Amino acid sequence: MRDQDQRDKHTRYWDATAWVSPSADGLAEAKAEEAIAEAAQVLAGGGTVAFPTETVYGLGGDARSTEAVENIFKAKGRPSDNPLIVHIAEESQLAELVTEVNDTARRLMAEFWPGPLTLVLPVRPGAVSPRVTAGLSTVGVRMPDHAVALRLIAAAGCPVAAPSANRSGRPSPTLASHVGEDLDGAIDGIVDGGPTGVGLESTVVECGADGMVTVLRPGGITVEELARVAASVQLDPALESGGGGEAPARPKAPGMKYTHYAPSGSLRIVMGASQEAVAARIQAELDAANARGEVTGILAFEEHLAKYHGAHTMLSLGSLAAPETAAQRLYAALRQFDEAGATYMLAEACPEEGLGAAVMNRLLKAAGHEVIYV
Ligand code: AMP
Ligand code: MG
Repeated sequence: MRDQDQRDKHTRYWDATAWVSPSADGLAEAKAEEAIAEAAQVLAGGGTVAFPTETVYGLGGDARSTEAVENIFKAKGRPSDNPLIVHIAEESQLAELVTEVNDTARRLMAEFWPGPLTLVLPVRPGAVSPRVTAGLSTVGVRMPDHAVALRLIAAAGCPVAAPSANRSGRPSPTLASHVGEDLDGAIDGIVDGGPTGVGLESTVVECGADGMVTVLRPGGITVEELARVAASVQLDPALESGGGGEAPARPKAPGMKYTHYAPSGSLRIVMGASQEAVAARIQAELDAANARGEVTGILAFEEHLAKYHGAHTMLSLGSLAAPETAAQRLYAALRQFDEAGATYMLAEACPEEGLGAAVMNRLLKAAGHEVIYV
């Protein structure tokens, strides 16, 4: 993929952090507003612009323009059978995009929009470039809960197709500087809105008319939250494979089959019922890796960090009691391992309650499902 990495564009950089900073003064806000307006013009003109959302940074383009959408795929080096999520700023934009919104979908929208929930709905023929839907009869739509994103999309005046703003396969960006690392010179601009909130992508769901909600990708809205609103919630069978299984060849959400978020070195997850056994195994694997001359890394919860000795890089996922901290830190940690040149990394598993389920889903993909059970 790297050989296709073209970086011949001048990437503009806009500072919109004041737009989301409670302490910014009027002048700083006015400058941020102008910055967003300039970025919106670039989007409206068919350009590619990375922008902050509450999940991760997205790489946006006019969803109606095949040229803009192709430039997104090109910049990311993304396989073209992986559809893009379309971002809107107002519910009134939905009617242009889809032919039908059933009661279940309406209830979820009322509860979770703006927010990290993507609804897969029947696409209105011709509403978006066929490259957005990758030939499916559905389109994934969401309204992000981020003041900069909402302002930008509204000002651009078009539905904005936006995957995560990373090179395909790399961890998603949670800072504007991560976007720059991956895409500087390959896209038209980056809007800096500071660190993202959730730190993981949106939850992607399909809604049956019977009230059944199927989770195609776990994310920022948890299964527990969905279950409070929907009659019933199930995980797509492709997600149930857990640590050991292979993703099926034709999953409903095509992104499911790709390795994602992976650091350059080898990452192993160690899990088991006994924390003592897990810690002992991690230390033993770490010692063996150091003896082989690997550059080692440990990714562990705050409560356990002191148990490990001798890693070149030790990173904390925060407290076991706060999976939202693990979500915020995961992708930046994977990038830090790359910066440190880590060749062999060991990670603790994350308890799968609440946001922990999405953290574990991403960690498994980052590790290519390489799990050591103890
Ligand atoms: P990303 O753009 O990197 O956030 O990934 C988007 C995810 O949403 C991928 O896993 C896609 O497969 C999924 N997705 C987008 N549109 C659809 C759709 N129409 N049907 C099913 N999954 C979708
Ligand atoms: Mg992505």
